[in-house]
Order: sequence, then C-alpha cells, then structure tokens
Amino acid sequence: MPAKTFSDGEMVMGRWPGSHLYYEVQVTGYNKSTQLYAVKYKDGTELDLKESDVKPLNYFKTKKGSSSRQRSRSRSRSRSPARTQTPKRSSSRGRETKKPVQKEEVQKKNLPPVKFVHEKLQENSTNSKTTSVIDDKEEKEENNTKNTYRVVEHKIRREIVTDQLGLPYNLRAKKEEGKVVELETKDDHLYIKKQAAWTQEWEFGGRVGAFFIMILLPAAVILLLLMCAQEDASVLNFPPQIPALQTLWSSTALGIFVLWFLFQALLYLLPIGKIVDGLPLANGKKLKYRINAFYAFLLCGAAVAAALYNEVNLSYIRINLLQLAISAMAFSLVLSIYLYVRSWRVPADELAVGGNSGSFVYDFFIGRELNPRIRNFDLKYFCELRPGLLGWVVINLGLLFAEMESQGRDVPSLAMVLVNSFQLLYVMDALWNEEAILTTMDIVHDGLGYMLIFGDLVWVPFTYSLQAFYLVNHTSELSWPVALAIIALNTVGYIIFRGANSQKNAFRRNPHDPKLAHLKTIPTATGKSLIVSGWWGFVRHPNYLGDLIMALAWSLPCGFNHIIPYFYVIYFTCLLIHREARDEYRCRKKYGVAWNKYCQQVRYRIFPYIY
Ligand code: NDP
Repeated sequence: MPAKTFSDGEMVMGRWPGSHLYYEVQVTGYNKSTQLYAVKYKDGTELDLKESDVKPLNYFKTKKGSSSRQRSRSRSRSRSPARTQTPKRSSSRGRETKKPVQKEEVQKKNLPPVKFVHEKLQENSTNSKTTSVIDDKEEKEENNTKNTYRVVEHKIRREIVTDQLGLPYNLRAKKEEGKVVELETKDDHLYIKKQAAWTQEWEFGGRVGAFFIMILLPAAVILLLLMCAQEDASVLNFPPQIPALQTLWSSTALGIFVLWFLFQALLYLLPIGKIVDGLPLANGKKLKYRINAFYAFLLCGAAVAAALYNEVNLSYIRINLLQLAISAMAFSLVLSIYLYVRSWRVPADELAVGGNSGSFVYDFFIGRELNPRIRNFDLKYFCELRPGLLGWVVINLGLLFAEMESQGRDVPSLAMVLVNSFQLLYVMDALWNEEAILTTMDIVHDGLGYMLIFGDLVWVPFTYSLQAFYLVNHTSELSWPVALAIIALNTVGYIIFRGANSQKNAFRRNPHDPKLAHLKTIPTATGKSLIVSGWWGFVRHPNYLGDLIMALAWSLPCGFNHIIPYFYVIYFTCLLIHREARDEYRCRKKYGVAWNKYCQQVRYRIFPYIY
C-alpha cells in the first residue's frame, strides 16, 4: 500500500470534481482503505480526492515560465476568452479565483483553466499523448488567422470516486466532453478550428427511446382526440374508429395554423414591453428578451372578440380539431428539421449540452442549438409561450361554444366554465410572469428540437384541452358546493405554484433582494445558493406540487365516468416525476455536497411525506 504523501492540515492543490481546475484545499483526513484524501475547499465544500488529484501547493507555480513554449502559452492564456468570460476571476483574485468553477461551465467552454494547462504542459514533456487545449483567440487575431485554437492532445481517463454520502463523482473529463472537430497544422503547432461539447448523458432512453417517443407522440395525440370524440369516451372502447386518411389532412387547417403562428410572431415583434437580460450563458453572454407576452394576450383577445362580433363560428375548431392537430404536427416537423440543419452552422458554445451526442435521431429530438435566433427573434422563447399556450385558450373557447351548440345550451355548463377559467388563469399567469420562464430548465438547459417544438405547438394545445373537448360530448352537471371545493383546490395549487416559481425566480435574479432576506440558504461551491426555507424548504419541487394540484382540479369538473379527462393529470404526474429526476441529477452534479445537504434538510421531492 503506497505511503500517505500529504499530512493532515496541510494546504495543497485539489482538483475540482469533473473539471481540470485545481484550488487550494486543506487536507482534513486520509482513508487508508479507499486511499482517498478528505479535503476542504475554501468555500467550505468537503470532498474525498484521489491522490493523483492532489498536488503540492507549489506544484503549479514552479512550472510557470520554465520554457519559451510556456511563456508564449501564458501570454495567450491571459488574453483568452476563457479569462474574459470570467472577469471576476482575474480582477478579484482574492475571493473568486479560489472558488471552484462549476463543472458544466468548464465543459461548455471546453477550455481548460490556467492551472490545468501548466500541469498538462509539464506532463507533455514526458508523455507525447498528454494534451490540452489553449484558447489563442487574440493571438489568432493578431496573426490575422481565423478561428484557430492551439491544441495539444491530452489523454483522458475516467476515474470515479465516491463523495461523502456515497454518491459517484467523476473526477475526470470524459472522452465525450470535448471532441476535436477539425484540425490543421500551422507554425509547427496543432490548431483546432472548432470544438464541440459532446453530450455525456443520454436521456429519454437514448436514441432508441427518442426514436419511439417521436413516433408515439403524434400517434398518442391522434388517438386521444379520436377517443375523446367518441360517444362512449372509454379507454376500453379501443381502438376508436379511424377516419379515412384523406379526411385527416386539410389545407385550410394548415393555412389557419400557419396564419396563427405568423400572427403570434407579429405580436412578438411589437416594439412594446421592457427588455430584460436572460441568465448568463456558457460563453458569458446574456441574451436580451422582450417582455410583451401579456400584451400579445390582450391583442389576441381583442382579435377573437372582433371575430366573434363578426359572427365567425368558432365551432370550426371542434369540427376540425384533428386536422388542426395534424397540421400543427406537420409544421412542427418542418420547423424541427430547419432547427437541426441550422444548428450545424452555429458556434460550438451555442449548442445545448444535452443535444450534441452525434446521433442524428437523438439530437434531432433533444435539440442541438440552445437558443436559436433569427436576428432578435428567439424561436424557443417564442414557441414556449405564444402559439401553443394562446392556441390552447382559443381551442378551449371554441370547445365552449361547441358545447353550447351541441347540447343546445344558452350558457355553457358550470364544468366547462371551470375548466376554461382554470386553464385561462394558468395561461394568463404564464404570460404575466413571462420573465420567470427565463430561469426554467427549458430555457436554461434544453436545446430547441423536436421534443420542445412538438410539446409547445402540438402537445400543449391539443392534449391539454382534452377536458373541454370531453365536455362537448359528455355532460357533467356540477353542484355549487362541489364546484366551490374544486375552485378551492385550484386556488391552493395556484398559490403554491406561483409562490414557489416567483420565489425562486426572484432569488436567482437577485439573491441579495432585501425582500428575500428571511430565506435560509445553503451556499454552494458554484457561488449560487440554494433556498432551504420558504416554499423550497417545504419540498424540493414545490412548483411541481402546485402544478399537479391544479391539474387535478382541471379534471375533476368532468366527473368520474371516464378516465380520459384525467389523462392530463396522469401524464403530467409522470412527466413531472421524470423531470424532477432529471433536474435532481443535474443539481447533484452541479452542487455536489451542497445539494446533498439540501436533500437531507428537505427530504421530500414533490409530495410531502410521500415522495
Ligand atoms: P424549475 O423552475 O423547478 O427549475 C429547476 C431549477 O431550479 C434547478 O435546476 C435549479 O437551477 C433551481 N433550484 C432547484 N432547487 C432550488 C433551490 N432550493 N433554491 C434555488 N434554486 C433551486 O424547473 P422547470 O423548468 O421544470 O419548471 C418550471 C415550472 O414550469 C414549474 O412550475 C413546472 O411545474 C412548470 N412546467 C409545466 C409544464 C407544463 O406542461 N404545464 C411542463 C414543465 C414544467 P439553478 O440552481 O441552476 O438555478
């Protein structure tokens, strides 16, 4: 058994898990059986590190400037975008340089930090396979060369150690994390033209899962609409009668859908509403977003009112719901193809970490580009909130009129009024709090591909309106006490949902906001803190809990005769449980020990005392 090299209490340089960064840490112990050093970072994070990830304090300093090659590299480093992207690190060294940089930040930049470069250069002298990448952007500008980065190969190993709670930590860059796309030789050096952050973890069952989901989603929408239209809307009444294929397609429906999309795009472009910054991207930039969704909602409302005044029959929606859905599917497919093709032209640092696996099927599904924009028109931001959400409201309204027509009512049923009102409130809330979407997973993490496009343009408007569609053909008479109980349930759900989302959004935007001073927080090594009281101290995803309570309240007005109106709450529970697991996994990687502490303090994920 090798002897222990470092003693307890000694200050050393410790590698930050999953990155190539080294920070000053103090050795707090050594486990002989696992041969791991327990170390404490300056921000309080405690980790177990392998000996190879621990270096003497002066390890890097002694290598500095030891050769002309190194001198030239230090120069290029000091000018590299990696440094300008993290200005605080160079300007306020005392605090910031010692703070471990977030693993994903490093992966996205694909640029090794300064200290790693020193280490690797030293290794390089003895091992020709050892490599690293140095961003040499300004040098390249001086030399009038385009987009070239100096590259030195490096050997990549994967080593897993265990953190204090027995959870796996990856201390090495995995092979997929960085991949040289194009190399050329220049002045005796290897240059890299483009480097992409390759997806490390596959979600949704990888390429096979993605393939089947892409086929199953449209089939599910069509089947649900057909089943819901049946007189006996029972899932046992399966398969529903499939109409003749030619009746499924309608160019008029496609025209209406495209016009709707363009109308929404026009409203999006209106120069009204404030402009806000998005969260910082991996490349340090912040995108600008115009906040005018609620104006769009009001203008849409005015347009629909004008249409009704001019006796436009909204029952068209009910009669052609399937054709409209199929048009939306075709449109989504074309848009997804466009997004996939254009993603090959964008710089590597604009790709989503999750959608760059190299598999066409998977990347097409997940989405390669994080924030595709045509000039200032942000396609993801637009699709998330406008055509689908507002489309859902209009479909619901059309179904309300269809109910009155088909059931010979002068006024819609109480059940229909509740469903329409609850869902209208949900959409209005999303549009009113438009800014809050900028801190959600969809915007911050996921690329824009078939998954989000289909979800936004097809799934949301055509399956979230199932309750209203069900009520068109199936009467559900509610008594007022029952209705009031359902309203109370929806109100509780809404208060939790809105309270949690607003609290997190406000905290992420300004953690020092005096209004949030009462919240208890846990600091993390990334510099961000986690809220551990208030809504986020109740369960770990209070916003999901509120959303699910509301989902139940939307289904209850339909009674208990059939399960189809409950499709939404069942599907949504599965979606949010899966989403919670995805988020949890990312947060654990991002925040490490701090996340584990949070989980210890807030034990339940979504449902208190249950899950
Ligand atoms: P969240 O808004 O819940 O964001 C999750 C992120 O919040 C985490 O990655 C983390 O990011 C941050 N976070 C987690 N815990 C804490 C904490 N304790 N303190 C501070 N920050 C924390 O994710 P979603 O995008 O999934 O959901 C947003 C809303 O949209 C939810 O209300 C959800 O129900 C709803 N939704 C609705 C859907 C629908 O179809 N109707 C579909 C999907 C979502 P970081 O630390 O990096 O900031």
